[in-house]
Amino acid sequence: MWEEGRVSGRVDWEVAMMTESNAVRAKALFGMAAEELRAVVEGLGLPKYRAVQLADALYKQRVEGLEEITTLPVEVRGRLVAEGYEVGLPEIVQTAKSVDGTERYLMRMADGETVETVWMPDGDGGERGDGSEAAEEDREQDSGNREQGYKRATICVSSQVGCAVNCQFCLTAKLGIRRNLTAGEIAGQVAAVLNRQQVRIGSGKGVETPSRINLVFMGMGEPFLNYDAFMKAVHVLRGMGIPESRMTVSTSGILPGILQFATEPVRPKLALSLNASNDAIRREIMPITKKWDIAALLEALRTIPFGKREHVTFEYVLLGGVNDQPEHAREVLALLAGMKAKVNLIVWNPGPGIDFQQPKPEDVAVFHRMLIDGGIPTFTRRPRGRDIFAACGQLKRTLETEPGLVEISAASVRL
Ligand code: SAH
Ligand code: SF4
Repeated sequence: MWEEGRVSGRVDWEVAMMTESNAVRAKALFGMAAEELRAVVEGLGLPKYRAVQLADALYKQRVEGLEEITTLPVEVRGRLVAEGYEVGLPEIVQTAKSVDGTERYLMRMADGETVETVWMPDGDGGERGDGSEAAEEDREQDSGNREQGYKRATICVSSQVGCAVNCQFCLTAKLGIRRNLTAGEIAGQVAAVLNRQQVRIGSGKGVETPSRINLVFMGMGEPFLNYDAFMKAVHVLRGMGIPESRMTVSTSGILPGILQFATEPVRPKLALSLNASNDAIRREIMPITKKWDIAALLEALRTIPFGKREHVTFEYVLLGGVNDQPEHAREVLALLAGMKAKVNLIVWNPGPGIDFQQPKPEDVAVFHRMLIDGGIPTFTRRPRGRDIFAACGQLKRTLETEPGLVEISAASVRL
């Protein structure tokens, strides 16, 4: 099994593909699939339709406690409680709000472990140009075609407590891997944020409507090293009214995960964290490249049956003087030649204890221009929530090293 605490050195990827730990949340109802809810109600000797009511309460009404499920008789709720069941949503224990509207939440799980989830009103621009619905809306918005009352936001979701992948530029890596999140804990972050923001989806709970919610699985952790729980969460989230076309999963390049993902009948959009223009640089900044190199990853991507308008998205974190020079842009163009690719450039966000330089603005501009001129749709991500360390790779770690930076919102801490 998995060792508690930091995992250093070589990681055994087969071991890293831990299965969801039942011990952690055995009694949490949130995250259960329809058949699991049916087994629960049947176990209590209740008729099947009670499972449908439960699912509706959990995923459409987004109840936070069993007492809110008024479609169930008090006696039934009492029996669920007696059996040790609970809704089991992660609890928001700290919040930090950026001047740009971004909100960062520290979410506590039942066993006390915490992860971070980020709410970005108006998205972060990461969807642009990938042929998705979100991208289309961005285009409409840009052309001044903004629909009345239109509102959209992106939620950045974590998939693990920490991460085992050890990318040298990433703060989450410094935490090591503590454990996988369950499907309920992954989807539950979204439910908790939607409740906090009072977002209504369909006829469900909330007041803020109409809303367009996009999800990016780009918070803490590597989703493809927690594959089963991640995919189960995708299905739970669809049940909450968020279509997979509005979800994007980012992977550092877990090859078996990409191959499995390619066979999924229902799948979010995929982004690959390329981050380097050749294997030598990538090995330095992402040691996982020693296991699966760039060529193998690009080959694996080719197995995905992309839709007509769909592009493969490549994330590319610009590290000053390391991977941000014209020769690197030329190498990226050569790598992606002939692919329906899109590139998201991300200006590296500094963090405590990480020894890289931010790229110079003029280098970012030249890199961006060279990719565009080479025919690759390229976008430089708007950095969001920098003042509260909510931007990529800055989650949680800052809180652990410099706790004074984050205000504890007393109202949100339930003891
Ligand atoms: N583990 C997955 C998803 C989470 S990281 C992955 O690596 O793809 C999401 C994105 O943030 C990745 O593209 C990663 O390269 C980027 N990232 C990590 N640390 C960063 C930092 N300090 N500044 C900017 N981007 C960062
Ligand atoms: Fe893990 Fe992604 Fe950070 Fe790499 S960039 S350490 S894969 S979270």
